[in-house]
Parts: sequence; structure tokens; C-alpha cells
Amino acid sequence: MAIHNQQLATMPAKFPPVVKGPAEIPVSHLKGVGVKRAAQLERLGIRTILDLIYLMPHRWENRGELLGVEDLYSLTDRLPKRVLVRGHLTGTFERRPGPRLHLLTVRLSGNDGRQVEAVWFNQPYIKEALLKGEEVVTISAAPVIRNGKMQLQSPQLEIGEIKKYLPVYPLTDGLTQGWLRTLIKSACNEYLQFIRDPLPGYITEAEGLVPLQQALETVHNPENLDAADAALARISFEKAFIYQVMIQSGRMQRFKGVGAPLRNGNGERSKLLDSLPFSLTGDQRQALLEIDRDLEAPYPMRRLLQGEVGSGKTILACLAALKAVATGYQAVLMSPTEILARQSRDMFEELLSPLGINVGLLISQMRTSEKKQVMQELAAGKPAVTVGTHALIQESIEFARLGLVIIDEQHRFGVLQRLSLTSKGINPHVLVMTATPIPRTLVMALYGELEQSVIRELPPGRGRTATYLASEAGRERVYGHILKEVEQGRQAYIVCPAIEENMEADLTAAEEMFKRLKNGIFSGKRLGLLHGRMPAPHKEEVMSAFRSGMLDILVSTTVVEVGVDVPNATIMMVENADRFGLAQLHQLRGRVGRGRYDAVCILMCDKASKQSEKRLKAFSQTNDGFKIAELDYMLRGPGNPCGFEQHGFETARLIAGLEEDLLERAIDSAAKVLERDPNLQKSIHQGLKQSIIPDIQIGY
Ligand code: ADP
Ligand code: MG
Repeated sequence: MAIHNQQLATMPAKFPPVVKGPAEIPVSHLKGVGVKRAAQLERLGIRTILDLIYLMPHRWENRGELLGVEDLYSLTDRLPKRVLVRGHLTGTFERRPGPRLHLLTVRLSGNDGRQVEAVWFNQPYIKEALLKGEEVVTISAAPVIRNGKMQLQSPQLEIGEIKKYLPVYPLTDGLTQGWLRTLIKSACNEYLQFIRDPLPGYITEAEGLVPLQQALETVHNPENLDAADAALARISFEKAFIYQVMIQSGRMQRFKGVGAPLRNGNGERSKLLDSLPFSLTGDQRQALLEIDRDLEAPYPMRRLLQGEVGSGKTILACLAALKAVATGYQAVLMSPTEILARQSRDMFEELLSPLGINVGLLISQMRTSEKKQVMQELAAGKPAVTVGTHALIQESIEFARLGLVIIDEQHRFGVLQRLSLTSKGINPHVLVMTATPIPRTLVMALYGELEQSVIRELPPGRGRTATYLASEAGRERVYGHILKEVEQGRQAYIVCPAIEENMEADLTAAEEMFKRLKNGIFSGKRLGLLHGRMPAPHKEEVMSAFRSGMLDILVSTTVVEVGVDVPNATIMMVENADRFGLAQLHQLRGRVGRGRYDAVCILMCDKASKQSEKRLKAFSQTNDGFKIAELDYMLRGPGNPCGFEQHGFETARLIAGLEEDLLERAIDSAAKVLERDPNLQKSIHQGLKQSIIPDIQIGY
């Protein structure tokens, strides 16, 4: 027995440790977390105790100064919004004014005998808590003066240690702040000590970072806001660093990966380019050069092509696909919606079919027999281009010779989807196209695995788009403007944020708007309605009617946001513009001014706050998508930029909140680590390696 024990002690830790760490223990292990709670937490991306402890507050609530009741009376002319009041408990009174109403009035007295009252509704248990406690009681509340008497509104009884700052966490339906606070607190008490710092010591040292456990402690329970911010930055840095290690090492792998060099098709290309009524812009030529260099290389391309709406990305995608097919491979283009898939298929077909290249379509809406045929051809390895939607990444679809994957408007797709498609090829080249300009730092932070090409200049000969803000008072004038355009043969978009009248949010619904306009001011005009809940064939019908000029005005929700190309549309009116993010507005605005006519975009915003009015003003003054992206990022935070969702909401939120210089330092630190130890084999990097594994889905 003794020998056995000794053997155990000296045995190298070959087996995983028996004791599980916070990263492996599910939250349901905690007291008070049952199936329902666990499901709610999962909606916040929390599965394990580690996830829970890493849930970062949005902000910290300042509870106000700790005051005596007498102090409160000396502040009557400038009462703080919220305070912590301490006083002697001098009375509790209960009333039941109705069958379902219980009122508990609690009276506190100050040292000078002056009194203040707090009322709790339907919380009889507060009384028991009071009776068990001390004679001196602390209440957090909003003080107000009613009928000359001081009252404490929305009171909270403070028991135990009084805290000046409380963390405010992101919530989901059914979870309350109080419950989550208690849960995180108890998780920290029990498990914080077992959390290992994934940052290697030399990075922590070089960056002057506080130890992880201390940072976590502070974030959930700060002494002051500076400490809280610093601790949060420390944790965000760590997330960004880990993410960087992941994508940078993925990138290193890529150059080791063997891809299919796509070298043929240059003759066909010249033919195609010669047939175009225009020549490529300088930016397009530069981007094409970069794409070609990748395609011809023996390792797979991973490139992000950024270019404004209408900057001419499609033709480049087409030229790339042509090279793949000419070299004997299959190419696919994945679009975010069926409308766009069809539109892209038409564009590709127009350009490629004269060269004898087949362009197929694969979307869910197709008949099964049609789908089957496309799938058979794909499985047989017939070199061709296939355009489609999510349907393309279904398990059952096989590509025998997938050489190139093009993903349009990639912010709609998650990395996972991106990968399940690329994993269908041997090791296909990947071109990701986006019209949403992404700030440089964010690209580095989130898409570090992608090289970048940018088209900045728009093709010549386009009209300009002016942007105006208008209020309810100006509505008739805006309609007049639309009528004028329509009467000159142009077309108009009217964009509304939601489909059904929503009393609460007071959004102007597309459906309502459509009816009102059709029977009112635009009764003589041809109106169409387009919204996300319409069946796809119906949507397509409306879209193609608008495209072919059979409709004058399209009333829609944001389904027109991406890529829709109707050069004759010259005016857009956006209802409740303040509800949209700037990046999204920019996308919308890009629907007009696509032809040779000047265009106008009118943003309706009445109830906008000062802040959002400022935002919209700034937006109206520039057409530079990159500037707008930076603006949006600065003013609003990234919201959900481009595929953030796929990397775990919390991580994304943290990385995005990081200041630019810290983000750059995280990027550099990751490079430093990988330079030392590319495969993270050294023992100082084991903690790091482990925190990467659950996430390492970016394989090449
Ligand atoms: P996006 O980048 O939004 O996908 P598209 O590729 O759809 O833009 O291009 C928008 C329009 O501009 C198309 O009608 C296309 O034929 C045209 N176009 C593309 N490149 C040029 C160019 N260099 N000169 C003139 N027109 C161009
Ligand atoms: Mg496009």
C-alpha cells in the first residue's frame, strides 16, 4: 500500500488531474442553479463556473455616499439620485390595502431625531430580515420629498458589508441582477482561488498587469471605479491576447498548409475584361493583384476584401472564380440571403457564361429534384461556379474539387459556418467580401487570420448622394420630394425598422406605412412592400418588380440592406433613423446613388436624443464608410460588428471594449509568445494552451 502511494506521488502527471477545475465544472453544480437557471445562463454564453466568473459587468452602479438621516435633511435642495442612508430603526408598519397588495413602511431616525420613511411593496419578508438584524439599518434608495416629508423610493435593504459600487451584469430574460450578483459572489468565494492565469509570467510582467485573481476579484467587487476599469482592461487584454494567439497561430499553420495553386484562365480573363463597358479602377486592379498572388501560391488564400457598396467587388470575385474553374476546380459563392444569391448568380452568369462556364444556384427554396441535380454535379467534381446561401454548407452537400470559396457580406456568417464550408474542400482558397468597412484595429483583432485588400474609390461616373435629417414637421416635404423623383421616372425606397406596429417602441411599421401611403399621398403610384417575414418567392417577386422598374416606391424593412442593386433608385427615406447603427445606415444609404443620377437619403428622426442626433449629423456629413465605421465604433462601441457572434459574445464584447493601444499590445504580445514557442509546447505556456483549446476551431 505504502509503495503504491509513493509510486503515485512520483509518477509524472500523465493523466488528467482527477479534481476538476472551474473550467470543467458546469454552473449547475452551484447551489440554486437548476435546469432552468442553467439554460438562462447559457443564453449569456455561460456554461461553466469559469465562464460565470469571467462574466464582466457592463458598468458599476454607484450607490452614493453613506449618509445619516440627518445628513439627508441637510441636502434637501440638492438631493442625490441615490444614496445609502443609515439610521435607527424606529418603527415598521404593515398594511394590506388590497387583496394582492402588501405595504411595509419602515421608519428610520437620525441622530437628531428627524425621520425618514421607506415603503416596500409586496415584500413582507423584509420585515423578518429587519427584525433579525441590528437596530441601526442601512437602506439604499432614491430620496425624494413628498408633501414636505422625506421619502426613500425603490429602497433596498443593505445587510452585511456595505458596498459603494455594485457590478451591473448583462442579463437575459428571467435573470435578475440581484440573483446574478449573489451567484457570482458565491462562485468567486469558492472557486476564484483555483483559476489559473493563462498569461505567461513574462507577458504579465512586461505589460505591468495585476495578477488575474486580483483582477477578477476587483471587477466583481471594486473599491473604486479606477480600480474597476483597470481590472476590466486587464481581463479584456487577456481575452484579446488569447484570441490573437489563436488566430496568429492559425495563420502560421496556413502557410504550412498545401493549397491548390490556381494558375490558369488568364486568356479567358482578358476576354472577359475586354467585353466590359468599363475598365477596373486602380483599387480594383490592386486588389486583384493581391488576390491573384494568393490564388497562384501553393498555400490557401485567406483574404478579406473590403469595399464600399457599389465599389465593384463582384467582378473581382468573378475573375477569381474564373481562375478556379479554368484550373479544373469548383468555386462557390455564399450569399447571406436568397435574394442576393439569385442576384449574384445572374451577375456571374452574365459575365461567365459567354466563356462557357456554368453558374449554378443552390438555395433552400429550390425543388428537391433541382437541388439533387446540382448536388450530384458538385459531388462528381464538375468544374463550375455555384452560388447559394446557407444551403451550401449542409452536411449532405459534397464537393469533389472545391478550390475556391467566396463569402459575400461575411458579417452575416459565423466563423463556424465559414469553416464548415471550407472544410469541404481539400484546402480551398477563401475570399471573404464585406461592404461593411471595419476599423483597422478591429480587423486585426477579429480577423487577424485574414489578409486584407481594400477598395476605397468608387467607379467613376456615379452620382453623389446627399444626406439630410428631417423631422415630423418636414414629412410632407419629404413625400413631395419623393413624388418629384418618381415623376421624373426615378424610384424610391422607404425603410422602416419593424414589420408590425409595436406600441411600446413606437416604431413605424412597414406594413402600416405601406397601407397608409398606398391609400394616401402615393395613391396614384405603384408601391411594393418587402419585409423579412414574407415567403421567399414573394420577396423575390417584389424585388424583381422593383428592379425592373415596375414599382415606383418600395416600402421595406431592412431586407434591402445588403447588396441590392437598382441604379434607377435615387431617393431613400429612413423612418426612425436613430434606431439604426451608423454602419447599418451606411449600408442602407448605399442602395441609392448607384446609377449616374445624384441621389438623396433622408433620415427621419424626431425623438432622437442629443447623442443620436449628433451621430446622425456626423453621418450625414460623410460618405466615407471607413470614417463611419470608426465613428460608430467610437460612439457606440461595435455592437455586433461582422461576425462577432461566432466567437462567444462575452469575448467579443471584451475585446471590442479594449482601447486601441492595449489591443495592439495584445497583438504584439501574442506574436512574441508564438515566436518563442510556435506550438505552445513549453511548460510556461501550458495554461495558455489550455485556455485556447476549447476555442480552437480555426483550423486550416
Ligand atoms: P459591390 O462591391 O457592392 O458588390 P458591384 O460589384 O455590385 O459592387 O458593382 C456595382 C456596379 O458597378 C455594377 O453594376 C458593376 O458592373 C459596376 N462596376 C464595377 N466595377 C466598375 C468599374 N471599374 N467602372 C465602372 N463600373 C463598375
Ligand atoms: Mg456585392
